[in-house]
Amino acid sequence: MRDSNATRRSRATRVIHGADLRDPHGAAHGPIYTATTFAFERTAQLAAAVGSGEARGLYTRYGQNPTLLAVEEQLAELEDAEEAVVFSSGMAAITAACLGVGRAGVAGFGNLYGGTQELLERQLPQLGIPTRLLGSDAVAELPDVLAEGFGLVLTETPSNPDLAVHDLEHLAGTAHRFGALLAVDNTFATPVNQQPMKWGADIVLHSATKYLGGHSDLTAGVALGTAQGMAPLRGWRKQFGQAPAPETAALLSRSLKTLFIRVERHNASAAQLAEVLEAHPHVARVHYPGLPSSPGHSVATRQMTGFGGMLGVEIDGGVDEATRFVDALELFLNAPSLGGVESLVTQPAVTSHTDLSPAERERRGIREQLVRLSIGLEDVDDLRADLKQALDKL
Ligand code: PLP
Repeated sequence: MRDSNATRRSRATRVIHGADLRDPHGAAHGPIYTATTFAFERTAQLAAAVGSGEARGLYTRYGQNPTLLAVEEQLAELEDAEEAVVFSSGMAAITAACLGVGRAGVAGFGNLYGGTQELLERQLPQLGIPTRLLGSDAVAELPDVLAEGFGLVLTETPSNPDLAVHDLEHLAGTAHRFGALLAVDNTFATPVNQQPMKWGADIVLHSATKYLGGHSDLTAGVALGTAQGMAPLRGWRKQFGQAPAPETAALLSRSLKTLFIRVERHNASAAQLAEVLEAHPHVARVHYPGLPSSPGHSVATRQMTGFGGMLGVEIDGGVDEATRFVDALELFLNAPSLGGVESLVTQPAVTSHTDLSPAERERRGIREQLVRLSIGLEDVDDLRADLKQALDKL
């Protein structure tokens, strides 16, 4: 913080001014320190820097690079966290959290991003780390799993791809009763719409590749929490070489300054389009936490300040009708990501969740006719017209 008013200012201001991003020449945007290593006058100073771990410049892979530290300060402002640790991808952040604080066991709650799911199903057990995947309707089973000694509950809300909403205060309370931690992947919501630590979460995770980067042009991740909580994650990042390149960190820093206005527009357009879609005769159901018809609406209203830019649409019919709808869209790019300026569409049953049996997909609430939309920043009237022309063709 650079002045006494800083703590009273809103996050939208602090993410622009809060971190020490300026160089001695007064540049309005921080310089990119591409250096891999940083020199010291005397051996004793280098030895002290290595010993304390506090030097802003030491070795880039350690995260001790001024450009990486500056974007971490901005990210911490966004989640009102003591510390942020920036990573080379969202999966790097999630993996480091599981290895750093989840070795007694990781319980996944609700649907998780496919990569996270695979980590829990395959790689963590290979390392001898017990894991369990609980459906979003299995909240009553969580205490039994935690009583077995699982140390970490990992969840996403709203979840990917079904937009289910979980009560974070309840999950945090349950985890803490058993001495476990709650980690929340906040990628879909963004810190603008939801701050999981306000509801008791210990760790917040983001794929910064999505809304935080916001332009589909960088891959990064972040973990946030207390300084003590982040220390083990820093250790894994260092040894696994998971720090991002300084160029990526600078690009992310640039993007964070517009996060609030971007997300406000994503929220507004998605809310409008959710209503339009829900009223269309070729749409069976719309999953959007902002719709009163959504089962998660009341929890979302309490826990979120905006409902995000992601929509799930169940097309009337089956997988073929859903594919025809997707293929008829002109503005929405058919690509497996989210959170960019451009609108994107994916069909989970034939892309991200194609490895699961239809019965397993149904059990997880991922129906064959589900289409996931990431609403971008195009003019909302153009998006509405595109959705309508594609639906009208069915
Ligand atoms: N978490 C969520 C909710 C995601 O959707 C994704 C990717 O789609 C990830 C994590 C992984 O992010 P990354 O691709 O940056 O590793």
